[in-house]
Amino acid sequence: MVAANEPDIPPLIELHGLRKSYGGQGGEPSVEVLHGIDLAIHAGEFVAIVGASGSGKSTLMHILGCLDRASAGTYRFAGQDISAFGADELAWLRREAFGFVFQGYHLIRTLDASHNVQVPAVYAGTPAESRRERAQALLERLGLGDRAGHRPGQLSGGQQQRVSIARALMNGGHVILADEPTGALDSRSGTEVMALLRELADAGHTIIVITHDAQVAAQARRVVRISDGRIVEDRAGEPAAGVAAPSLDARHFMARMARGVAHSASWWVDAREALGSAWRTLWVSRFRTMLTLLGIVIGVASVIVLMAVGQGTSEQTLQKMAAFGDTHRMSIRPDTYGTRGLRGVLTEADVRLVAELPNVDIAMPFLTGGAMLRANGTDSSTALWSMGHQGTRLFNWQLARGVFFSAEDEANIATVAVLGSAASERFFAGRSPVGDYVLLDSVPFRVIGELAQTGEPEGDNLVAIPFSTASRRVLGTRHPGLIQVKVHEPERIGRTVAEVTAALTEAHGLKDFAIANNPARVRQHNEATRQQSLLLALIAGISLVVGGIGIMNIMLMAVKERTREIGIRMATGARQRDIQRQFLTEAVLVSLVGGVAGVAIGLAIGVALIYAAVPVIFSIRAMGLAFGCAVATGLVFGLMPARQASRLDPVVALAGE
Ligand code: ADP
Ligand code: MG
Repeated sequence: MVAANEPDIPPLIELHGLRKSYGGQGGEPSVEVLHGIDLAIHAGEFVAIVGASGSGKSTLMHILGCLDRASAGTYRFAGQDISAFGADELAWLRREAFGFVFQGYHLIRTLDASHNVQVPAVYAGTPAESRRERAQALLERLGLGDRAGHRPGQLSGGQQQRVSIARALMNGGHVILADEPTGALDSRSGTEVMALLRELADAGHTIIVITHDAQVAAQARRVVRISDGRIVEDRAGEPAAGVAAPSLDARHFMARMARGVAHSASWWVDAREALGSAWRTLWVSRFRTMLTLLGIVIGVASVIVLMAVGQGTSEQTLQKMAAFGDTHRMSIRPDTYGTRGLRGVLTEADVRLVAELPNVDIAMPFLTGGAMLRANGTDSSTALWSMGHQGTRLFNWQLARGVFFSAEDEANIATVAVLGSAASERFFAGRSPVGDYVLLDSVPFRVIGELAQTGEPEGDNLVAIPFSTASRRVLGTRHPGLIQVKVHEPERIGRTVAEVTAALTEAHGLKDFAIANNPARVRQHNEATRQQSLLLALIAGISLVVGGIGIMNIMLMAVKERTREIGIRMATGARQRDIQRQFLTEAVLVSLVGGVAGVAIGLAIGVALIYAAVPVIFSIRAMGLAFGCAVATGLVFGLMPARQASRLDPVVALAGE
């Protein structure tokens, strides 16, 4: 005889005065659907719950399967009142005790038969290998061995229902709850499914079949008739012969529950599982995923490219500054003083004074002006730069031809000139100008040299002559416009500036000059670069937020679209945190893929720019940062949808579309 009928073993399922009402919130009337159900089902029973449509059968089944809670009354499972159970404990119960078979099969569309069958084992923490083997064995047992790789859409209704039975058996399927399992099937498939359930009952599974079909009910060993939310008949058939002992009786189950309802898989296994599942989901909707990624991809790529170009340009500017000797240079110019806007003057004596100061390498007078230059029969106004003989050293100039004027030329007020490369080209068209004469405002000058190209237009289109000559013969003033200073050590420039200021102020009796200092300009440049980076970071931030909103949007949509799937996962034992982890993993995976694509595209654009001669310097830090931000974006913006998904009520989610 069946062990479950021994008096000392409590029923597996015991309901007392169970009531269920719907509604009652937000002003809508509350409707009671179950009006006090008393029912006891022992392990190993094969029960049919029959009744007309709308009589409350499904409602009862959802409560039996812990997918929904009763409004009143008690439900004891294996002697335990489950009203005190939290969400995780209920999930454990569903996972360990129940297997569901629904009228509409409720398979996950995006998973193949094998993976659908494995879902409950995933949440039980079964290792992947044994899970796969067991799924394969179950599918074979149900005659679907060759359909393991098919998605639900590629299977017939009868086959889908058999897959769902295999899924119900995955974790043992001690109690199989089948709600109209044959309702959507043709009669032959229906008969097959019922035969299968009968076989399982004979093997010791507790089977509860819900049906409105008397023929289906006739196959069970006990029939409970329900009408308008009340049990109106409870008829046991004749005891069946040759039935195995129940696969799980209440005593065993109580003992197992006492051992704890902990989840057995490590977080690492869970994470890997979530990652695999997320990847499959994203792969199925890859086009849409790609569109969502766009925000992140553009964000990451633009940060990398902008940073690289910004840094490249900045570096180039610094190099140019260095090329012109700018990093070692400062200049002293006359400035206004007093309240009436009087302007000071600099003298050649000042130049000598400054030259004597420590850390000063060169101090030379400098004065520019426009001059009419006539040479070789051509007239053209050209920039006239007058300076000391140290000009080449101060400006880091090279000579292409001839020589620069000397200290002697300077002392002798020699009428000698050095042409910039562009000026030489303009007047002499590639021919050497050295030895030729040019007229500067009607004064003849002998050309003694030609500068090499400097890469700067203003450094090429000029004529350089000694300051002494310019001041006396051409420009008509003895006062230098600037004193150009080159220092030995730019690091000490601050002190040098102070010393120059002190010396000149003492000499003039007042401070009627200003000092522009190029190393300070370099610092300014660096500061500007820093601000530029901040701006870039801002742009990056904005694009990542936009990308994040895209992710949030797609995840919210996914939650909506996949409510049914969430319900199925919960019915098969997923805890809230499993659902949350899954959706969060999907969000992070999307942004991760976006980050990788962004870095790749950013690098590609950068390389293309290098070929287009744009100065580009890639920064690993920028890449890492952009990438990290992308992933963080996925986490932050995925959190809300993930929580929303995990908080769905299983029964509500199952009913969802
Ligand atoms: P059955 O499965 O026997 O056809 P159900 O249990 O699905 O019946 O439904 C019983 C009654 O409860 C029906 O009148 C139905 O309209 C009502 N009902 C079921 N689910 C809900 C719900 N979520 N909200 C409100 N009423 C519901
Ligand atoms: Mg129903």
